[in-house]
Amino acid sequence: MIIHMAKLGRDVFKMDKLWDCTTCFTCQERCPKEVKITDIIIELRNLAVKNSYYPSMADVPKIIIQNLYRSGNGQPLSPEVQKMRSIIGLDKTPCDVGRDEDDLKAFQKLLDGLPLMRWGDI
Ligand code: SF4
Repeated sequence: MIIHMAKLGRDVFKMDKLWDCTTCFTCQERCPKEVKITDIIIELRNLAVKNSYYPSMADVPKIIIQNLYRSGNGQPLSPEVQKMRSIIGLDKTPCDVGRDEDDLKAFQKLLDGLPLMRWGDI
């Protein structure tokens, strides 16, 4: 829906729906046309932030923030799902920063530098 609205020229940066995606990558991994749906949503978010549109941290459920800081994804996959993904030939986790320990540490360091809150305390 968001991508369709963006194609129609609607100002999706101001829409709350842009931030509803949990970046689980389910749609992207299953798309028979290999459309990079999640990547498009992430890019739209990047553009929104560059244009000073982003949700208030107060509107983001604390569990999402905790997951993001600890795993690099707001909705990390359970060990059971990761195991099933491996069985069918997928990476254990989708393309998120938490797949690489060094990337995750760099990401946490970046978040720690933000004035929003003390991320490590959450
Ligand atoms: S990545 Fe997951 S939450 Fe986001 S649009 Fe695709 S299926 Fe929905």
